[in-house]
Amino acid sequence: MKCIVKNQFYKFQTFNFKNYIRKNRIITMSKLPNTTASIFSVMSQLANQHNAINLSQGFPNFPVDKRLLKISERLLSENIHQYTPMAGLPSLLHKIALLTQENYQRIINTNSELLITTGATQGIFTAINTFIKNGDEAIILDPSYDSYEPSVLVAGGKPVRVSLNDDYTPNFNKIASAITSKTKLIIINNPHNPTGKIWSENDFEALETLLEKHPQVLLLSDEVYEYISFKHQHISANTRPKLIDKTIIASSFGKSLHVTGWKVGYLIAPEALMKEIKKIHQFLVFSVNSIAQHVISEYLDIVDFNEVAKMYERKKTLFQNALKDSKFELLPSEGTYFQIVNYKGISTENDMDFAKKLITQHGVAAIPISVFYEDATDKQMLRFCFAKTDETLLAAADKLVKVV
Ligand code: PMP
Ligand code: GLN
Repeated sequence: MKCIVKNQFYKFQTFNFKNYIRKNRIITMSKLPNTTASIFSVMSQLANQHNAINLSQGFPNFPVDKRLLKISERLLSENIHQYTPMAGLPSLLHKIALLTQENYQRIINTNSELLITTGATQGIFTAINTFIKNGDEAIILDPSYDSYEPSVLVAGGKPVRVSLNDDYTPNFNKIASAITSKTKLIIINNPHNPTGKIWSENDFEALETLLEKHPQVLLLSDEVYEYISFKHQHISANTRPKLIDKTIIASSFGKSLHVTGWKVGYLIAPEALMKEIKKIHQFLVFSVNSIAQHVISEYLDIVDFNEVAKMYERKKTLFQNALKDSKFELLPSEGTYFQIVNYKGISTENDMDFAKKLITQHGVAAIPISVFYEDATDKQMLRFCFAKTDETLLAAADKLVKVV
């Protein structure tokens, strides 16, 4: 790490930050000393370096809806370039409220229960940093998305990682025993990245019973893939009256509208919680990109979210069929745009080495699942993203069937 301190930096060709700290008796300044570049950046970069087909990082490689582009072009020359109100563009807040009512029959107050965020990532970070203080514990279910733990650590909290069952359903005995008087938050992700699992009615009932016993515990429900579920309907925390008072829900237009680079998401939370979240949000972001908010607001009038799930179901089936003759074992994908596979029939290597080899020797990039566990549990599994053109999926499958 580079550090410019008086003129010392210039005296040394390689400046060792840790030695400097030790020598000068400064306690380490890093809040995330063990954190490295995210696996998504690492794998995408490797894929690019080796010209491999990138099924690792979760982003679509197909063009966005032409209607979205047309709206963008038209609105760009209008007066939409200054700050929006802090919580979001009023018309967008209104459309999200309508969407929430239509899909989940929940009526939200746009003034007090809704906040536009810079993607779900910022919403999640802000929510965690609003409610977790020094020494508080937050329960995270493994395998888990990579941004939860660092957000808890930055807040000074303690991430308590609890593994899901082997079939990726939540294990309520384990979760119950992980709850202490310091537990302030449980973070759930449904539909689930990386496994594609979705929560059942029974799972929600068990969670409700558990949270009733622990009124100090809040719930953060990451539902960025809410519109991508297949055979089983996604159950949103928005539809659970017993949870609503204690729940913050995170959503992402990046996922729902195939514009991950626009970084627009939102949080829904009851007024008492949202009031606190907004206090932090206003000094972290103030207001989110105005152009994207205006365009999305207008686009929401014409977009049909049922089409999103249908499109991804078709892609999932295409990819699964194309892998039928491969030696990979495909696990069920109930939602999201991820397919997890095990490669036990091919290799005994650990998943990181195998994923690297898949890039360098076979030309396809995937994410090793061990990175989603606190203890790097290696079940010899990979995650492929099927949010890609049919040609990309078929070309990747063609390479994957040859891996023996
Ligand atoms: N949560 C999960 C489970 C995700 O997969 C992602 C990845 N995009 C995010 C949150 C972050 O969403 P955004 O890109 O809107 O920040
Ligand atoms: N959510 C995406 C995934 O799971 C990655 C987002 C990111 O790169 N931060 O692949």
